[in-house]
Amino acid sequence: MLTDNFGRKFYYLRLSITDVCNFRCSYCLPDGYQCDQKRDFLSVPEIKRIANAFAQMGTEKIRITGGEPSLRKDLPEIIATCKQTPGIKRVAITSNGFKLPEHLPAWLDAGIDAINISIDSLDPRQFNAITGHNKLPHILKGIDMALADGRPSIKVNTVLMREYNGYDIQTYLDWLKDTPVTLRFIELMQTGDNKKFFDAQHVQGSRIRQNLILDGWLPAIRDRSSGPAQEFYHPDYLGRIGLIMPYSKDFCNSCNRLRISSLGKLHLCLFTEQGLSLKEYLQQDDIEPLKAQITAMMTDKQATHFLHENLTGATTNLSMLGG
Ligand code: SAM
Ligand code: SF4
Repeated sequence: MLTDNFGRKFYYLRLSITDVCNFRCSYCLPDGYQCDQKRDFLSVPEIKRIANAFAQMGTEKIRITGGEPSLRKDLPEIIATCKQTPGIKRVAITSNGFKLPEHLPAWLDAGIDAINISIDSLDPRQFNAITGHNKLPHILKGIDMALADGRPSIKVNTVLMREYNGYDIQTYLDWLKDTPVTLRFIELMQTGDNKKFFDAQHVQGSRIRQNLILDGWLPAIRDRSSGPAQEFYHPDYLGRIGLIMPYSKDFCNSCNRLRISSLGKLHLCLFTEQGLSLKEYLQQDDIEPLKAQITAMMTDKQATHFLHENLTGATTNLSMLGG
């Protein structure tokens, strides 16, 4: 089992398959994706070796992310590859869902277990202002289709921002009354590129937590491959609420995930100084050297991120790594 110096075990891998994105989220890529060099993203055989290596070291869940993962035409093959890896129990994806109705059947055929869609406002005009795309109704249609299918679990990611949703979550609560999704409010994180936006928009999730508890929301039980969200349910609501509060005390104590970038680098934390390249170990079918290298790299994992000291490492924005 992959373990670090602090006894944490890593059941969960976040695998970025591209850093390209078609949205312009204000906190992530406000000027859109910019890159003038050709990028050599992980191939399906390389992904297969990564999935096998991690699974053999105890990983049970893989989340495919980006950039926008659905921009890759071979995404269904990537989902199927992860899903068919012995030891991997759950394959999830995080997507902006811009073509969810069109993509959903292929994802389901490939065996997807869980879909997270990012929706930072349920108001179409605000959604457009945040992402640069007038796609909210289309994305909500895709969510309805996924719910009607019934197989994947559906979560919605909402980044808390002072201007849009930081103080008034009533629209979300109304939606959750009859919609069986888990809505996760994520505290805005500072990255290398967004300091000004962060300073203007960051709000703490703890106030929402207090209000939820006062309104009768109850804490749910976590399993070992769950993410860092504190989750709540309410007998009067079909939906659930999760809170991801990376600035809260002890957030990193329960860290159970590692990250691989689309360029094949291992990132021990979202906010490390650099990724550790695994590319040369991904070129052969014998995965023992790859496993040994990952194990050796684990000794560098730190106890916590340094966001409280405004140190964001080399992460200029989260499309680089997938959040
Ligand atoms: N493009 C996909 C999407 O938006 O869902 C996947 C990649 S995106 C980087 C993954 C998640 O990170 C999204 O839910 C996004 O809202 C979140 N995210 C991006 N930048 C963030 C930031 N600075 N603070 C908190 N969450 C952020
Ligand atoms: Fe793209 Fe996701 Fe970043 Fe938005 S949060 S710009 S959809 S990578």
